[in-house]
Amino acid sequence: MAFKGNESYIPVKKNSSGPGYYFDPASLRLKIQQARLGFSFIKKFANNWLKIKIAKSSILDPLFGYYLVTKRCNFRCRYCYAESNERIASTCPEDLNEQDTLKILKIMRKDVDNIYFSGGEPLLRKDIVDIVKACRTLNYHIVGLTTNGILLPRKHEIAEYLDYLTISLDTLDEKKNDMMCGVKDGTSKKIIEIIKEFAAMQKEKKFSLLINAVITEHNIPDIYDLMDFCFRYNIGLSVIGQMENLRPIAFLRNNKEYFQLVETILDLNAKGYPIIGMPDFNRTMLTFQDHTCYPTLIPTVYPNGDLLYPCEVLNSRRYNLLETGSISRALKLGQKEFGKKINCPGECYLPAFITASCFMEQPMSAIKQAVKLRMGNCYNTEIVENKAWKTKTGG
Ligand code: SF4
Repeated sequence: MAFKGNESYIPVKKNSSGPGYYFDPASLRLKIQQARLGFSFIKKFANNWLKIKIAKSSILDPLFGYYLVTKRCNFRCRYCYAESNERIASTCPEDLNEQDTLKILKIMRKDVDNIYFSGGEPLLRKDIVDIVKACRTLNYHIVGLTTNGILLPRKHEIAEYLDYLTISLDTLDEKKNDMMCGVKDGTSKKIIEIIKEFAAMQKEKKFSLLINAVITEHNIPDIYDLMDFCFRYNIGLSVIGQMENLRPIAFLRNNKEYFQLVETILDLNAKGYPIIGMPDFNRTMLTFQDHTCYPTLIPTVYPNGDLLYPCEVLNSRRYNLLETGSISRALKLGQKEFGKKINCPGECYLPAFITASCFMEQPMSAIKQAVKLRMGNCYNTEIVENKAWKTKTGG
């Protein structure tokens, strides 16, 4: 896995004094950093495994922080669960100022090596570049951000500090995408151009570009073209089915066309095309299978610093990180009050939580996926060129 800590920006210099051998302090530091991360991951995984198997607990140590830096959004996507779920929308708190946001990042760093930013639309925050940049100073290993993309040209430099940049796009049909996102005509045309521009920067800026698509009743056939687009521009594609109150929408559950598409996606995922997500995750997510959830693996932090315990759906208690001082302290308080088992009806399909849970069940598959993602330009262009996947779908 490649990392994007400060060290990786130092240019590699060859030492001319010896043929075929050169000592490179930057690359040595990078290797030490990777070894540290590997060790910390194994330790956490083993600890969590013991918690599940021996202590019979569902409250596990977090692996990733998920920080919703604002609830404001400049789009009105028809399917957005943040809007459709009243519990989330009605409790929408205010953003913290930059200083307190940086305090939250420091607090989260005590317990997680990796962080993902989302919202709302995170680029609406004027200070978002500084926030993401601060993660480098704090030595976060993996830093990702999800955006609708329209403000990216104004915050170009953000790519310098990210490992993953995810842009939402549901179809290449610009008019339809405008309609699905509730934005004015021409917005999606701009977004597609922005995506191409950022796709071309991946290698130089050392980040992986991903597209997030939501499958709804409007865009099932369009996903094939979207796959083609992603494979050609060397972009990872992540797909999920539309949800209603955080459960798969009834329309998809009974739709033959949808399940045909899902079979193609799973097939391509297994063959190594840049479909994001472990095969297990994609099957669970897209075919709505039962799953065991360990929500504290990815604690969700709201714009005001509240950690929602045990997850943003059950939301039994909120602990503000500025008061608890750490995620682990908040989790301890939650466990003390609610016990070590989570009383979950188990029908929520929030992707982040399913990813985390599959991760505990299939660690090797998760590691393979991470490597595939970080290698970015490694996607097999030969199989993309021969369009084997299109033959199957008659495209
Ligand atoms: S399945 Fe959903 S509701 Fe249940 S614990 Fe996981 S995230 Fe929370």
